[in-house]
Amino acid sequence: TTQISPRTALVFGGSRGIGAAAVNRLAADGYTVAFTYVSREDKARELVASVERDGGRAFAVQADSADADAIRGAVDQVVERFGAISVVVVNAGILRGGTIDAVSLEDLDLMLDINVRAVFLSIQATVPHLADGARVVTIGSNVSIRTGIQGASVYQLTKTALIGLAKGVALDLAPRGITVNNIQPGPTDTDMNAGGIEALADLSPLKRVGAPQEIAGLISYLAGEDSRYITGATITIDGGFTL
Ligand code: NDP
Repeated sequence: TTQISPRTALVFGGSRGIGAAAVNRLAADGYTVAFTYVSREDKARELVASVERDGGRAFAVQADSADADAIRGAVDQVVERFGAISVVVVNAGILRGGTIDAVSLEDLDLMLDINVRAVFLSIQATVPHLADGARVVTIGSNVSIRTGIQGASVYQLTKTALIGLAKGVALDLAPRGITVNNIQPGPTDTDMNAGGIEALADLSPLKRVGAPQEIAGLISYLAGEDSRYITGATITIDGGFTL
């Protein structure tokens, strides 16, 4: 099978957790990988160094997804080096809890900004630079199916929005052979879940949470040639958590 070219990937929110696993995996798959981060420059540097130790190529760009200009600036920097982008993974996301009586306007706006608005803007900024046949992957969450806990209404709202976004953008970009898909991980062992991992594992049929590398494996598949007939889809990877 032919490979999508050039072998370039951009991961929004790649310094830690699922995003970092995606950077590692795509680099191992032979992509030169650019990724953004917001605050953890230490983690971003570490990741670039570890990719390079393994013989891959990666570079990091500081860009707050809450800031539309920063997103465009990051894409400009990446395009300057890459020319064109073949794989875009929009992973940056945040979780702030609170039952509806308690959610502040600030937290509401922040989650809408990072988890929804920024996903749209990140894809929009890359569209002029996407190679024909490119791949776009967003990271939603299995909370769109079932949350089961209080205090997650805004997070559930934002992650559910990505199901619709993938469908609409898939139609917009289909004429260029670009696929757009949304992945819904279940509980995954990252900083976002630090503290609650054991309880979540207990609730899972497989009695464990996911590893970031397992989510990255699905990202790799959706970035690759074998997935070329999948578009506008939302795929859940949660070890049966929502069954
Ligand atoms: P982490 O909190 O471990 O990592 C988040 C990553 O996103 C970091 O690289 C962080 O950068 C980056 N990021 C956060 N905010 C911004 C921002 N404003 N601008 C740019 N980058 C930003 O999260 P996870 O790896 O756990 O989650 C990744 C995605 O997967 C999220 O969208 C999350 O909602 C989703 N998800 C996670 C699940 C889980 O159980 N962990 C389950 C289902 C979905 P920095 O290091 O600089 O802070």
